[in-house]
Amino acid sequence: MASSPPSWNRTQEPFAELISAEAIAARVAELGAQITRDYEGRSSTDIVVIGVLKGSVIFLADLVRHIAAPIFVDFIGISSYGDATVSSGVVQITQDLSRPIEGKHVIVVEDIVDTGHTVHYLLENLGTRRPATVALCSLLHKPERSERDIKIDYLGFTIPNKFVVGYGLDISQQYRNLPFIGYVQGAG
Ligand code: 5GP
Repeated sequence: MASSPPSWNRTQEPFAELISAEAIAARVAELGAQITRDYEGRSSTDIVVIGVLKGSVIFLADLVRHIAAPIFVDFIGISSYGDATVSSGVVQITQDLSRPIEGKHVIVVEDIVDTGHTVHYLLENLGTRRPATVALCSLLHKPERSERDIKIDYLGFTIPNKFVVGYGLDISQQYRNLPFIGYVQGAG
């Protein structure tokens, strides 16, 4: 029997809601439809959707179900050095792709573009592997924090300069399973 996920006890959560689960679902469906239109006519072995671990997994899981085309899904793990709240731009690949992407149409799926250093490094790295094309899809973008000129081809939401959690994004590895996107009240 199908059952709904349990509701979080909103009075006990330390988070204020920034983007509701319903708003996320609607926007993710739109992005999937847009990607479907843009990649129409590609052959079934051509499109590789790459999720950046771990923050993008929930977004990716929902997004790919709105892409009406055969795709290959892969993951890449990266970690930034230094203080977790200040992106240093020094990035390490902790888990590589399972297959080469040469000649493929790559869609990189990120949770958030903050300063842009992480995705800048990642796109440069993937570019050396000779894909046919590379597009960037990010659920969130914080333009106030931008330090790199990053072109986001498919963007979910532009958000203010707040530290957000939920729908894949964590605080100390917790709260990725929050169904909405929230921010810590009182924090910047
Ligand atoms: P950037 O290199 O663009 O500054 O940072 C990218 C990474 O920092 C993201 O992939 C994410 O893991 C983390 N990050 C940046 N802003 C936030 C935020 O508001 N909340 C969370 N949970 N992670 C963030």
